[in-house]
Amino acid sequence: MQKGRLSRNSRDFIAEARIPDLLAEQGAVEDARLEEILQQSLARTPLDLEQTACLLRASEPRQIDRILATARQLKRDVYGNRIVLFAPLYVGNECVNDCSYCGFRRSNREAQRQSLEPEELEAQVRALQRQGHKRLILVFGEHPDYDARYIAETVESVYRIREGRGEIRRVNINAAPMDHDGFREVVQAGIGTWQIFQETYDPQSYARVHPAQTRKGDYQYRLDSLSRAFEAGCEDVGIGVLFGLSDWRGEVLGLVAHSRYLLERYGVGAHTISVPRLQPASGLKEAFPWRVGDEDFLRLTAILRCAVPYTGLIVTARESARVRREALELGVSQIDAGSCIELGGYTRERAVQHLDREQFELGDMRSLDEVIHDLLAHDHIPSFCTACYRVGRTGEEFMEYAIPGFIEQYCTPNGLLTLCEYLQDYAGPQTRKAGESCIARSLKEMKEGPLKRKLVLRLEELRETEVRDLYF
Ligand code: SAM
Ligand code: SF4
Repeated sequence: MQKGRLSRNSRDFIAEARIPDLLAEQGAVEDARLEEILQQSLARTPLDLEQTACLLRASEPRQIDRILATARQLKRDVYGNRIVLFAPLYVGNECVNDCSYCGFRRSNREAQRQSLEPEELEAQVRALQRQGHKRLILVFGEHPDYDARYIAETVESVYRIREGRGEIRRVNINAAPMDHDGFREVVQAGIGTWQIFQETYDPQSYARVHPAQTRKGDYQYRLDSLSRAFEAGCEDVGIGVLFGLSDWRGEVLGLVAHSRYLLERYGVGAHTISVPRLQPASGLKEAFPWRVGDEDFLRLTAILRCAVPYTGLIVTARESARVRREALELGVSQIDAGSCIELGGYTRERAVQHLDREQFELGDMRSLDEVIHDLLAHDHIPSFCTACYRVGRTGEEFMEYAIPGFIEQYCTPNGLLTLCEYLQDYAGPQTRKAGESCIARSLKEMKEGPLKRKLVLRLEELRETEVRDLYF
């Protein structure tokens, strides 16, 4: 179906991974074996497929508890208590594909189509900046109108828009796969992560939900897409699965296989893994027999945390506040907040969803301020930090930095600086109070020295002057 060139020596790493064989293995996992694998996770060495399959097979309640406890510990050890916040911005929902699970699919006559005009885009970005957002992910359907030039120009416009003290400092992308030239053009506009979800790594399930005659119907072209992105100069890629299209255990193995393949070929694994779960959507009729329940969803989040200790995990507002709270403890490091996925929705009253203008139903409709308040109440540090990507600590370099001491040196101070900015410029009174005590507590826990002294000075500067965007 696709005419585009694949990446250099492209391989079907999913077929090579023999996922059905790994899933077919029977028999209980011995506690000693499980413990050995979990110790490897705690030593922060990524797991191979066979080890991940063991975690998936370990089903005694005490074994599941051990996996959950390990994930909790790893989360705190590797990521500290920061949670990075972002918001999605849907730029256009025209789509030539017909993915059976999606409200934007071309056969959905109920969908109201829109592509944001430049002034509409500006109004959305200003509204997001007024909430306090600094990191956006731009989302597009797949359509000839949304070519590389259009996406690159959209990214450039977003960076130029300024509302008061607001600005967008990192723009990520979730859009259809490109060829090498297309990726190159968008990457040069200064994007952060390019996310492309395989949706399902099982070729048969993939064929069932993506009609063959559509662009997205080409499984191999999509599987190869982030390899092309790397070859085109993108240093940060995000992978994901739409949980609910096939057996979740196989999908977890697919994600691990994909990340390992990228690491082996390009020296950098996936920067993030997203775990969207299938939600009701406009005109959705098909029955999806593989839907994943909450318990399994949290279990798979924990298994991923153990399998890829250094890869960021994203759980979006598709999930309820309750599920997100639990997922955060088990390894999730990034969430969206105050999200509105209706085209042009950030400038409207968003108490209810209008599914004909949206891709799916949301589970968490709280405002950014409510989410931040809740994070603070649960001992997290909400962070809008974008420092690594802006000073070049990305890709391979980021992996090297992901060593003990990195969080103390960069992430926590930068998280606190961006929280302080938010508290000064956007927070409600209760959030400000909770945020200030979080900053005070965190400072108390920091060891004395030049870094702490510098941080205290910078926090003061944010509170007392108009200066913004301070980071280490
Ligand atoms: N159109 C581009 C593509 O397909 O790659 C951009 C992605 S789409 C706008 C964002 C993601 O939303 C999809 O990759 C899919 O995983 C997810 N999605 C689609 N329908 C969904 C549904 N009903 N429930 C939850 N997530 C859904
Ligand atoms: Fe189009 Fe993406 Fe929705 Fe598929 S998932 S119908 S490609 S917007």
